[in-house]
Amino acid sequence: MNHTNSETLYTEALEHIVGGVNSPSRSFKAVGGGSPVFMERGQGAYFWDVDGNRYIDYLAAYGPIITGHAHPHITKAITKAAENGVLYGTPTNLEIQFAKMLKEAIPSMEKIRFVNSGTEAVMTTIRVARAYTGRDKIIKFAGCYHGHSDLVLVAAGSGPATLGTPDSAGVPQSIAKEVITVPFNCLDSFKEALDKWGHEIAAVLVEPIVGNFGIVEPKEGFLEGVNQLAHEAGALVIYDEVITAFRFMYGGAQNLVNVEPDMTALGKIIGGGLPIGAYGGKKEIMEKVAPLGPAYQAGTMAGNPASISAGIACLEVLQEEGLYDRLDQLGEVLEKGILEHAKTYNIPITLNRLKGALTVYFTKEKITNYEQAEKSDGEMFGKFFKLMLEQGINLAPSKYEAWFLTIAHTEQDINDTLIAVKHTFSKMAK
Ligand code: PMP
Repeated sequence: MNHTNSETLYTEALEHIVGGVNSPSRSFKAVGGGSPVFMERGQGAYFWDVDGNRYIDYLAAYGPIITGHAHPHITKAITKAAENGVLYGTPTNLEIQFAKMLKEAIPSMEKIRFVNSGTEAVMTTIRVARAYTGRDKIIKFAGCYHGHSDLVLVAAGSGPATLGTPDSAGVPQSIAKEVITVPFNCLDSFKEALDKWGHEIAAVLVEPIVGNFGIVEPKEGFLEGVNQLAHEAGALVIYDEVITAFRFMYGGAQNLVNVEPDMTALGKIIGGGLPIGAYGGKKEIMEKVAPLGPAYQAGTMAGNPASISAGIACLEVLQEEGLYDRLDQLGEVLEKGILEHAKTYNIPITLNRLKGALTVYFTKEKITNYEQAEKSDGEMFGKFFKLMLEQGINLAPSKYEAWFLTIAHTEQDINDTLIAVKHTFSKMAK
């Protein structure tokens, strides 16, 4: 496959844009380096790059593009919004209609606010939780990513329940010490953290189904335990559903696991591919937000008619009967095929899948938390990633990311992908 034009653009991009990319996860640093592929056009399950190569896409823009690229219903809604003016700075009826749709799908969100990204949504839930409880500290789970606001760019130190250390330069130690990180799926560590700091905890922040160290489901009773223990300590529970909402069913992962948080943060899919975020929760908590309450949050672009129109259109598409079952069926075919080829060529993998989302870890270890996911062999993943790319399969360039199926993928696409997997494993085995 020829990537000459991508390489030329990458050289130029490096001159003008930091690292040549507008989000670090788009660089190929984690897969051995080299020029990322510059895409030019997306249609359905496919991408075409600037050298004219076609790819089957499993990146789905890190989650949002569940309908496939340029879905006609969403494109029409965006076009109509553009014709009517994309930004008003006034309330609109569209915002009400969309808030009603979200509330119906995720009933724990009694009151909603729209923002512009997942980062903003999560950041604000924490502020509101602090305003509501009058406490400062939060608990998060190791390996869960919650956007790039200061407070959540904090990783675990050593030990099962630790005060955080900044994961990024520029995050003050004084902020990091307000965050306690514990391992996902370990109620004992969570309890230990609450025993120590319970009376200071404003909120517990969690991805109810993890998407950020691959797809990892909560163990039975884990989320119920988190809710019960957090509430006993007087802390709120915030679900970061930026990836999970509308990914596994029409609604949130909270509907799937049947546990209700106090607040929820949304993003990605609910914008149909345009920038969006939303947060919401119990009425008495949300009423702490300005102009009703003392917790400030605002946005020039928030609730803009283009993003809201795209979001409404996207959810309308996702209401189709049987759509998530089909994603599950395609996911199952993909899972079985990958496992079979791995066995044939003796490639050590573990595959986690939920419906149309899966992660291939290059380790035999069962993956239920971040420490285990870290053991996935990055060098093997890098090889796998690049060999797949050369055969026209576009994955995320990180061992921790998921493959996302879209409703545009066909059985033929899955079969073509499995042929590439077989070929890749056969080369890796040599
Ligand atoms: N929360 C989760 C669970 C995410 O996966 C992400 C982004 N990958 C974010 C928050 C941040 O969202 P955004 O990139 O839209 O700011």
